[in-house]
Amino acid sequence: MTRVPFVAGNWKMNHTATAAGQWCDALRERLAAAPLPDGLELGVAPAFPALPRVAAEIAAGLPLTLIAQNAHRELSGAFTGAVSVPMLLDVGCRRVILGHSERREIFGETDALIARKLRTAVENGLPPILCIGETEPEREAGRTEVVLEQQLQRGLAEARAEQLDELVVAYEPVWAIGTGRHATPEQVSAAHAFVRATLAGILPPEQAARLRILYGGSVQPGNAEPLARLEEVDGFLVGGASLEAASFEEIARATARAKGLEGA
Ligand code: PEP
Repeated sequence: MTRVPFVAGNWKMNHTATAAGQWCDALRERLAAAPLPDGLELGVAPAFPALPRVAAEIAAGLPLTLIAQNAHRELSGAFTGAVSVPMLLDVGCRRVILGHSERREIFGETDALIARKLRTAVENGLPPILCIGETEPEREAGRTEVVLEQQLQRGLAEARAEQLDELVVAYEPVWAIGTGRHATPEQVSAAHAFVRATLAGILPPEQAARLRILYGGSVQPGNAEPLARLEEVDGFLVGGASLEAASFEEIARATARAKGLEGA
């Protein structure tokens, strides 16, 4: 089963539009000096004000998928400060991150709200990256699989299987996000296998086998390659290390090498 490896950067609330332009300049220069092999998808999720700046770079040939960090559950209306799926599509977004642990923890997003947002996204042609992951106490209590299964079941509850062909799942143990402590290859391998088996219980198994499962949590140029060598790891969702074009590109290159892409 060939799944295109995907390395996506999540800038969170970092980088103005100006800084985003500089990041794109740096990435373009690095790719011109040493092109990445074909068969690898790169994506970046800027804050909303920087989306048009990065969209312009993509239109000019920078090989990135534009990703939104969040979207509202409704398509329009009286929701001051919110941004809708049609607005994101219009500015060039081709994916949206939903269920990030920071949205769950800091902004109180529930599985029910995430499911509603996910339905709105897939019904309107914006495929999600659904983030799931256990906290440290949940792992220590032996509840990792229960949590992952619940977040998947509940997060996908409002969508139909035929709307989920482009779904990407990001396994992001909360204790590994922004902490410098990435999960071990054994932990990642076990969690990804469990996520795929769970997906195969929710969706037709051949569809589940085609979906990409990314790992996220303190991925750096120095730890990406052994993690990307794992069969069930289809790439990464990268926070801190995506803020610099150089480290983002090094992670992408390490992924291409680990996946044996020609020319890597
Ligand atoms: C994230 O926020 O999705 C993430 C994985 O962050 P970091 O890489 O900084 O741990």
